[in-house]
Amino acid sequence: MDAEIVSVGTELLLGQIVDTHAATMARILAECGISCRHRATVGDNLDRVVETLKVALSRADVVVTIGGLGPTADDLTRDAIALAFDDTLEKVPEVEEKLKQFFAQRGITWVESNGRQAMKPTCADLIDNPNGTAPGLVARKNGKTVFALPGPRGEFDPMAYNQVKPMLENLGGGVVIHSRVLRVIGVGESMAEEKIKHLMVSENPTIAPYAQPMEVHLRITAKAPTVFAAEHLIDPVEESIREILGDAVYGTNLTTLEMAVKDLLSERGETISTAESMTGGGLSARLSSVPGSSDVFKGGVVTYTIEAKNLLLEGADDPQLNDPVSPEVAKFMAESIRRQLGTTYAISITGNAGPTSDVGQKPVGLVYIGIATEQGTHVEECRFRGIREDICKRAEQTALRLIREAILN
Ligand code: ATP
Ligand code: MG
Repeated sequence: MDAEIVSVGTELLLGQIVDTHAATMARILAECGISCRHRATVGDNLDRVVETLKVALSRADVVVTIGGLGPTADDLTRDAIALAFDDTLEKVPEVEEKLKQFFAQRGITWVESNGRQAMKPTCADLIDNPNGTAPGLVARKNGKTVFALPGPRGEFDPMAYNQVKPMLENLGGGVVIHSRVLRVIGVGESMAEEKIKHLMVSENPTIAPYAQPMEVHLRITAKAPTVFAAEHLIDPVEESIREILGDAVYGTNLTTLEMAVKDLLSERGETISTAESMTGGGLSARLSSVPGSSDVFKGGVVTYTIEAKNLLLEGADDPQLNDPVSPEVAKFMAESIRRQLGTTYAISITGNAGPTSDVGQKPVGLVYIGIATEQGTHVEECRFRGIREDICKRAEQTALRLIREAILN
């Protein structure tokens, strides 16, 4: 069973709103075991909506449209469905009556265009919309089904989950498409793919790698009668991947790197502190965002200027520390904060995030990350590319990777 989602609305094409409903519907389809093969977005133009629907109906069993069911001239979805199905529109008198009552109760003048919402293709049934005026549609012809849902969130979400999803479950014939994401750090996308290539020939579950900022996600997707059965198919694949990639797999699904670091520290009863320059507290923010982080993250300082370093970090008056972007300063920052806060580990970040290379004449993207432990201090020299924001994010992510490696070793 294949599906296609067609989002209707010129504001989507202009980038004025983001198509969040299509993402919601895509997840619902997967949960119902229906493969979504294409997604289309089309403006409020009758010919183009009809054309898009015809293409969608030529290749999918189920088409779900989003938006364009309202009363105004640019709401064309119901007309387009009728045309795409070679059908005509008919008025549903009971719906028109209900609409008229609704308007009267609110003291709103009835204009004829409101009656458009009481029209439906003859091959369609209406889907009740308790949260708005325009009913949804389910149109069936020649073995194909089109669902039409309204655009406003307060109408779309309840209709999608409460009314359309049960119908899709029936169509899907009792299968679910369920995924688990393995989050991998310190191995590039191509290398990860190379290492697990022999596993990727599997068709159920399937394995797909995705490059994310400074990490790789491996999505394992299974089709099975229930989520439980799908999990059962996914488990051995996860195990095989973990055997190959080892500690590079730091978590699953929504586990972030800072969560993984926090968990490792909690298990070991260890603590951490930070001293940041370039990232302005970004690393501390990530660490403190994890619930329960106060058990392991004692605190940190943002020493953005020499004055701040002198005031907040002991030993900053060392004449060797005159170059802010240097391995010496990264080492000093990590060691000072570790000593001052008495933590098992400390991380420091100093570098030049650009856009100008005025920080001690150092090139943009040059970053030193210090990891201080009981055994000593390691300073990693990194050269990141990208805009200021990217460089800071990459530095934070790399710092978390390095500290995780230090904890594991
Ligand atoms: P209305 O009766 O309000 O005209 P409608 O079914 O005709 O509803 P649209 O006119 O297409 O829907 O969209 C109404 C509003 O719904 C949009 O301004 C937007 O806020 C929201 N919306 C529409 N489509 C989407 C979408 N795909 N994703 C997220 N929001 C959407
Ligand atoms: Mg509208």
